[in-house]
Amino acid sequence: MRSPDVIPSGSEGPGREGHEARTSQPHPPRSLAPARDDSRLHPYVQLRALDTLWFQVAGTLCNIECTHCFISCSPRNHSHEMMSLADVQRSLNEARELGVREYYFTGGEPFMNRDMLPILEATLKQGPATVLTNGMLLRPEVCRRLRELFDASEYSLDIRVSLDGFDAASHDAIRGTGVWDRVMIGLRNLAGAGLNPVITVTTAAEGVASGEGRARFLDIIRGFGFDRPRLKVLSLFRIGAEEKRTRAYEDWERLNAESLSDEEASVLQCSSCRMVTSKGVYVCPILIEEPAARMGDTLSETLRPFQLRYGACHTCWVDGVTCTT
Ligand code: SF4
Ligand code: SF4
Repeated sequence: MRSPDVIPSGSEGPGREGHEARTSQPHPPRSLAPARDDSRLHPYVQLRALDTLWFQVAGTLCNIECTHCFISCSPRNHSHEMMSLADVQRSLNEARELGVREYYFTGGEPFMNRDMLPILEATLKQGPATVLTNGMLLRPEVCRRLRELFDASEYSLDIRVSLDGFDAASHDAIRGTGVWDRVMIGLRNLAGAGLNPVITVTTAAEGVASGEGRARFLDIIRGFGFDRPRLKVLSLFRIGAEEKRTRAYEDWERLNAESLSDEEASVLQCSSCRMVTSKGVYVCPILIEEPAARMGDTLSETLRPFQLRYGACHTCWVDGVTCTT
């Protein structure tokens, strides 16, 4: 059903654009046991229900090259290619049969995809949609069309825009010179169309996890005229570009079956999602560069358990990550 995401409704929500970090941890980091060589010890997650479907709709192509991007997107990264409306429609048809409840679009930068608006139009005929964007291509005519799509659908349309600092200096240190100014224009255009975005901030932004930091971000968002600001704080994964910016996962940063019960695994987002890319269907939005995380060509081929053997899985559990809004 449509959720009240257009101005003036909305509020600060729960916390790649897309992977929430909990500031308080309901799950203590109980999985810090020493690494075992035997990969059979890594736990499996069952697919409870396919509720959330992600599309890597812009592949790994992006108009910028953030230093923390966990899939190293860039204008030159063709690891995953753009998806066409026909590509997406095939999976939408299958998703309808499988009872998928909501749809997310990411990249790369989704608005680099020329089919993005028709793709949203098709998606909004069967469920709520969220687009994760860096905010640089939110031109007035794009925002107007997004508003029209929202108004024409019985389902909600959310736009998530990334910020990585409180000002141009901190944001552009991660995202590139001049990006802050472009995003500010994009946010004003969204406001002009009456669309209230979710602002996402990664923990790369210093101080964001504190109450004071969150309040400061909420003030920035209010400054655009969004009187009910929505903010989501995202975890960083030590893969892709982020691995080079900080460090790689260490061997002990893995889950093992002794530290994660089946019940506990059932709260991970991979127990209810899959990611469609130009190269097939992957377990989740995070592991699209892991060959073993590709589970099949179609959604129905991926309705089976997945072994949580990656460092990123450790972050998901310890930080309680969810990429949904
Ligand atoms: S805007 Fe998003 S997808 Fe593009 S490089 Fe930055 S983090 Fe990666
Ligand atoms: S990275 Fe996270 S979402 Fe992906 S399979 Fe591992 S635990 Fe699940």
